[in-house]
Amino acid sequence: MNRLKAIVTGGTRGIGKAIVEELVKRDSLKMDVAFIYNSSDEKANLLKNELQNSENSIMAIKADVSSFDQTQEAVGKILAEFGTIDVLVNNAGITRDNLLLRMSEQDFDDVISANLKSVFNFTKAVLRPMIKNRSGRIINISSVVGIVGNPGQANYVASKAGVIGLTKSMAKELASRNIKVNAVAPGFINTDMTSKLNEDQQNALSSNIPLGRIGNAEDIAKVVAFLCSPDSDYITGQVIAVDGGLTM
Ligand code: NAD
Repeated sequence: MNRLKAIVTGGTRGIGKAIVEELVKRDSLKMDVAFIYNSSDEKANLLKNELQNSENSIMAIKADVSSFDQTQEAVGKILAEFGTIDVLVNNAGITRDNLLLRMSEQDFDDVISANLKSVFNFTKAVLRPMIKNRSGRIINISSVVGIVGNPGQANYVASKAGVIGLTKSMAKELASRNIKVNAVAPGFINTDMTSKLNEDQQNALSSNIPLGRIGNAEDIAKVVAFLCSPDSDYITGQVIAVDGGLTM
């Protein structure tokens, strides 16, 4: 049987890295994965070499997800090697937090481009092969703050709420082609993105989480793996909060 081919953006650290590892290693999936990164070649090569074996194919492609041209070029390279794309995980994201009064136009635009426009960029690039196959899975990483809002994160929240709207429209538009589109909304997950918070802030946050702990990247990766698997065949257009009960 042919191995399924996946693209994961922002794949060299945090949640993206955990997703790449889960898709490659999980026995029931064992996918060929191309991951997109934009900073450290060294980290990217390290991960590629760690996962590459005689049975699979792993690609590390450098691209800025907010650039339409770079993303089309990146997917072109992946298609030339993989031949098709079965799964797209739009994970890359940034924060540029500030109160609205102090938020610059640049910080607003950068966050919308990296978090929301990137989803459009990659989806456009993979649609033709998915439509041709009459099959595909697209998983967009949103955030629970895109559902409930958060002071000091207007740009980020707008981008993540936008990802939810985009997910639902894409799901309706692509359902007849058997392409399923879902969003995962992580709560508070322990990664570089959240390590900027001090211990008091972290304690205050976890005391509000019913399951009593901050999440880890693997908690998100397992749900993404489920959404890539035949077990989720009848799920599309959903936003799955993975947040220890924070936003129930
Ligand atoms: P992270 O900062 O550790 O990783 C983000 C990744 O995205 C990095 O690999 C980075 O290089 C990549 N990236 C950012 N901008 C890019 C660009 N322009 N082009 C290419 N790659 C780019 O963050 P994380 O915590 O692993 O977050 C992953 C996703 O999960 C993000 O979309 C984030 O918004 C979302 N999320 C995280 C949390 C959390 O608590 N950590 C909560 C909710 C949602």
